[in-house]
Amino acid sequence: SLLFGLSVVSAGGVLAQDASDIPKQKHDYQSDVARLRKIVVNSLYSNRDVFLRELISNANDALEKLRLTALKEPEVLTGAEELNVTIKAFKDDDGSSRIIIRDTGIGMTPEELTINLGTLAKSGTSEFLARAENTDTTGTGNLIGAFGLGFYSSFLVADQVYVSSLAAKSSRNPEPVQYVFSSSADESSFEVYPDPHGNTLGRGTEITLVLKDDTQEYLDTHKLADLVNKHSSFSSQFPIYLFTQR
Ligand code: ADP
Ligand code: MG
Repeated sequence: SLLFGLSVVSAGGVLAQDASDIPKQKHDYQSDVARLRKIVVNSLYSNRDVFLRELISNANDALEKLRLTALKEPEVLTGAEELNVTIKAFKDDDGSSRIIIRDTGIGMTPEELTINLGTLAKSGTSEFLARAENTDTTGTGNLIGAFGLGFYSSFLVADQVYVSSLAAKSSRNPEPVQYVFSSSADESSFEVYPDPHGNTLGRGTEITLVLKDDTQEYLDTHKLADLVNKHSSFSSQFPIYLFTQR
């Protein structure tokens, strides 16, 4: 279900931005990831829409994982009451265009940010890579539509991606700390560091996409609403709120 929030999006809100005094751990992407990202970044204009489907499906997976974990360990529900996804699109004070996709799901520890987003855990992806590198650009476009690229489809529309995450509280992780995964589209490395804003999320994951110059059309709330309805309204079991700027 797609719901429209009426709140004003405050530019310069809680964003996982760089803070120069925070020590950042730099990691090189696994070589397969570097190859995959190159294909994504260079892929066809007409397939860019899929980024939203992929990110909403990840949010939905994280919420479902939380719901299941809570059956045995209700403590994981602390921090944020509602299980939902919120999407905001706005122009920031610095002039950049941003889309923020936030969920109150299971979240990720710094180790999970590094492994889940910095390596290819997915079996299907290696098949995709093998086929994509033996195909022309048009074929690659079709492959993207068929396979889905998961998190890396963020780089279809974004120059820079920040993933801020606060893992659910549990007996294994009684004092979770919010961390940021940061990566730009044109580098072969990413950084993971404590969120300079602290534990602001309550629980879950917030993905900030800094849009490319030629993907500004995704700032349009109507376009986003159409995409959510097209791809995600049937598959999502949790409410999706789309904030509109007034
Ligand atoms: P897939 O969803 O097929 O596993 P993705 O590339 O979409 O592949 O995501 C990689 C992994 O990153 C996921 O399996 C999950 O562990 C983690 N992840 C991505 N997005 C989120 C999120 N919003 N909340 C928690 N974990 C996430
Ligand atoms: Mg996924």
